[in-house]
Amino acid sequence: MSDSRRRIIAGNWKMNCSRAEAIQLASAIVADSNLNNNVEMLICIPHIHMADISKLLINSKIYLGAQDAHWESSGAFTGEISSSMLADYQVSHLLVGHSERREMFADDDSRVAKKFAAALNYGLKPILCIGESLEQRKQEMTLEVLKSQCQAVVDVVGINAFSQAYVAYEPIWAIGTGQTATPEQAEQVHAEIRAWFAEQSKDIAAQLPILYGGSMNAANAEDLLAQDNIDGGLIGGASLKVEDFLKIYSAAG
Ligand code: PEP
Repeated sequence: MSDSRRRIIAGNWKMNCSRAEAIQLASAIVADSNLNNNVEMLICIPHIHMADISKLLINSKIYLGAQDAHWESSGAFTGEISSSMLADYQVSHLLVGHSERREMFADDDSRVAKKFAAALNYGLKPILCIGESLEQRKQEMTLEVLKSQCQAVVDVVGINAFSQAYVAYEPIWAIGTGQTATPEQAEQVHAEIRAWFAEQSKDIAAQLPILYGGSMNAANAEDLLAQDNIDGGLIGGASLKVEDFLKIYSAAG
C-alpha cells in the first residue's frame, strides 16, 4: 500500500444472509469495528437488505455498497434495479463487472461500461472488477485480458472518470477457491495495471486505488496488503465472518 492513496477493505456478501443474519452480521461489524481514518470500510450486500442495513450504518463510517445495478434509471426491465434506486438508500459504491456476473449473467464489456457510467451518473463510486481465468493465465494472456476489460470502460467514460472509481483485480481462479495469488504475483499484476493507466494519465494512475480480491483472508491479508500497488481488498467468503473481516481490515491500517 502507498500512503498517498486511499485504502479500502470491501466485503462482498454475494447472495448470502437471511434478513436476520444480515442484520446480525452488520450490527456486529458496526459494534466491533475500530475504524481508522486512513482505511475505508465498505460492505457490498444483497439489494433486498438495503433498507435494513442502511439504517444500521447511518451513524457509522462504514460505507454501503451494492453488487450490481442496471444501466438505465427506470423502465421495462423486469427484475432489475437501478443505480438511482440504490442512491435512495445511501448506497455509495457499486461493484461492476464481478466475474460471477460476467460468467453467469452475461455482463460483457459493453454492459459493464454502461453500468459503470450509470453508477457515476447517480453519484455511486464504481469498483470495476477485472480478472483472468486460469486458462487465460496459462496462455499468458493475463495482461491482455485485463487491459481490454479496462479499455472497454475507458472508451465509454474517459480516463478522467477513474478519479471517482476503484479497480479490483480478481483472478477468477482465486475467487472462492481458497487459492490466492501470491503477494508477488498480485503485486506484479497490480503494478502492470497501474502502468497501463499511467500511459493514459499519470495523475489518475497515481491516485487510483487497486484492490486485490480472490480468497483474501485473515491469514494472508497482511502480506498481500504490504505490497506497494495493492491498496486494499475485495473480500468474499471471509467478509461473512466478523472476526476475519475485522482482522483483514486491521491489516490494512
Ligand atoms: C469476491 O467474490 O469478490 C471474492 C474475492 O471472493 P472470495 O474472497 O470468496 O474469493
